[in-house]
Amino acid sequence: MASRLSPLRTLPRLASLTRNAPATSSASSLARPLLASQQIRGYKKAPQPMRDVMTGEIIQIPDIDASSLQIQNTQSPKTRLPNSKLIFGKTFTDHMLTIPWSSASGWGTPIIKPYGPLELDPSSTVFHYAFTLFEGMKAYRQEDGTVRLFRPDMNMARMNRSAARIALPTFDGEALTELIKKLVVLDSEWIPQEKGYSLYIRPTLIGTQNALGVGPSSDALLFVICSPVGPYYASGFKPVQLLATTKFVRAAPGGTGGYKLGANYAPGVVPQAEAAKEGYSQNLWLYGEDHALTEVGTMNLFAAFKKPDGSVELVTPPLGDMILPGVVRDSALRLAQDHADGKEVLPGLPEKLVVTERKLIMADLVEAEKNGTLFEVFGTGTAAIVSAVDKIGYEGRDIAIPTGPEGLGPIAKGILDRLVAIQTGEIDHPWSVIASEGKA
Ligand SMILES: *Cc1c(COP(=O)(O)O)cnc(C)c1O
Repeated sequence: MASRLSPLRTLPRLASLTRNAPATSSASSLARPLLASQQIRGYKKAPQPMRDVMTGEIIQIPDIDASSLQIQNTQSPKTRLPNSKLIFGKTFTDHMLTIPWSSASGWGTPIIKPYGPLELDPSSTVFHYAFTLFEGMKAYRQEDGTVRLFRPDMNMARMNRSAARIALPTFDGEALTELIKKLVVLDSEWIPQEKGYSLYIRPTLIGTQNALGVGPSSDALLFVICSPVGPYYASGFKPVQLLATTKFVRAAPGGTGGYKLGANYAPGVVPQAEAAKEGYSQNLWLYGEDHALTEVGTMNLFAAFKKPDGSVELVTPPLGDMILPGVVRDSALRLAQDHADGKEVLPGLPEKLVVTERKLIMADLVEAEKNGTLFEVFGTGTAAIVSAVDKIGYEGRDIAIPTGPEGLGPIAKGILDRLVAIQTGEIDHPWSVIASEGKA
């Protein structure tokens, strides 16, 4: 499915060739600082397109080859801000990763180099037709120096689906994960060790063809930048207020809401500003005549209801082309389901829990508020992990939602605590992927 719309479709992937390529000695000591003059020499050359021996026609173009990585160390490391001064997404580390692609030669040499501006032709497709997509993931550093990623395979799979949706090239997600590990390990001094801090990683893929025609981009650039970030809840949990908008839609069936495309986000800014003017922090995105709930701001949505039999039902709308398949959404669902099945108890969650993915409409919330059965509403996403909702403005009035004494309901709190423990390595879990082992 991932490669259905991809320009690589007719070209068999070269993943098996590149993955089995022997690593050179220089590529196996990637994190070692290099002098500027050493930068290029000695690196393995990126794989070349494979041609038909008879016709000379290109039959395979190279996938990303992590073993051909070149590292250009910064000669002027930046001064790091004290943790307390970090603002989300405003500070960037010393290095970035770039990998060029073209339809003729495939994925080129991955380079880690000093963080800095890109030089692009003004006709680049990214500037005109929004050939851009991104991911959001985090790295965590333990006291012993161990650096971990959280479920990077999920981000890579989603990034490939996004790429395929707008005819940008797909790639070997494992190879990109390897390269991201090298980048975060090289810049690991930038990951604050204090509790709640992490490194936000932003892989991005843009179309760079220099031509104004609308069509698949013949050139692309994948880059990854990293930003040290503080705890979302530095001063206690702050529930958010949502405006359930009937004026704007975020996504529609057959559209692109289920993909992390740049094109989905700029149009959400004016609705958010309008919501802010009315005293709400985010939009609750609805769809259709019956005002089905889809997402909150740029987070997935969960709601919980008390049932007559004493159980609590945790609901999230099912995935489809309107809902972004969040990594935290999936993780929250799995943790809650394991709790419901009695496989792994999550402290704080209702003992009798039912987890469902089903359509949810505003009338359900209105009725639950009237009956006193509204238990909790929260959003999930990599930045905040969970975010409680205490109020939803809808058709001229506010629906009040319980959030508990701490400002975070018991389900959101239980999920948050478990996820943080997994992400930071406090609990061993297959979701937590080690980028580099500590020295303790
Ligand atoms: C990124 C994003 C999410 C959350 O995804 P995570 O992988 O959990 O961070 C949810 N909704 C939208 C619209 C998003 O862009």
